[in-house]
Amino acid sequence: MSESAGSASANGALEEGEIHDVLRNGRRRLAIRSLREGEGEMNVRELSEEVAARETGEDPPPRDKRQSVYVSLHQTHLPKLDDLGIVDYDNDSKRVALRDRVREIEVYMEVVPQYGLSWGGVLLRTRIARPAHHDCGSRRRPGHLGSRDDRGFRRLLRRVDGGLGVSRVQSAGPRHLPATPRMTTFTVDTDRRLHVLDITDRVEAAVPEDANGTVTVFVRHTTAGIAVNEAESRLLGDFEAFLADAVDDDGWDHDQLDGNADSHLRALLVGASETLPVSDGTLDLGTWQSVLLVECDGPRSRTVDVRV
Ligand code: ZN
Repeated sequence: MSESAGSASANGALEEGEIHDVLRNGRRRLAIRSLREGEGEMNVRELSEEVAARETGEDPPPRDKRQSVYVSLHQTHLPKLDDLGIVDYDNDSKRVALRDRVREIEVYMEVVPQYGLSWGGVLLRTRIARPAHHDCGSRRRPGHLGSRDDRGFRRLLRRVDGGLGVSRVQSAGPRHLPATPRMTTFTVDTDRRLHVLDITDRVEAAVPEDANGTVTVFVRHTTAGIAVNEAESRLLGDFEAFLADAVDDDGWDHDQLDGNADSHLRALLVGASETLPVSDGTLDLGTWQSVLLVECDGPRSRTVDVRV
């Protein structure tokens, strides 16, 4: 991946790879559509309401849905669309405005089937899918989720997670330590034997809002791992193919016991944890970095620890 300072074509036409990257995500498509059908300008709260209503088919949408949409728009999707010059997103006023550039992707939006083919499939068929030209630099904006409003949403989001079976363990720790180690746990259901999933949103939601320093994301399993890399959908498939090829499926001594030595070996390559920088409760990831859970012996339910 290149290390260019910005979108390679920030001043020229969008590249097909960039268009793919924008449109493969359903929430981004809905955000663009909502803006287009509105006045072209909204604040992020109105936009979240609109997108959540379209996603759920309920108007007004459930509050927790609106809040999770808000967090992902504010944190991930709008900064990305802003980087590509498709919208102007003002982090402080929380105003989002479509830019003229959206016309370059509208032609592709029209051909999206309602159901069936994924975006990747559409683009492959129409032969416009090419390796995306990425900016791998770390340009995450300052002030992510820094405002009081955002924190309120994060709190609510975590409460929602609590309702979904996320447990929070407070360890007492030695009394003289000023910072008490904190750990949050959530579970992820994987779909197949070798499965790489993006868990960034779950991890971010699990990070306490006052966390500064580092967080450790850890799986308590010997046939699953944690990695940091890009969550582009085809690349996730490439990771799976690579891990499948990297280790022979059988012929290992441990197979005499339970037949899954290949799963252990793939997990060995990945590692069980990643330590990530965090500021004011927000992961300081590069623009293209995501936290990935690498399932090597699924499908099953995996427990992920996030420890500050
Ligand atoms: Zn085993």
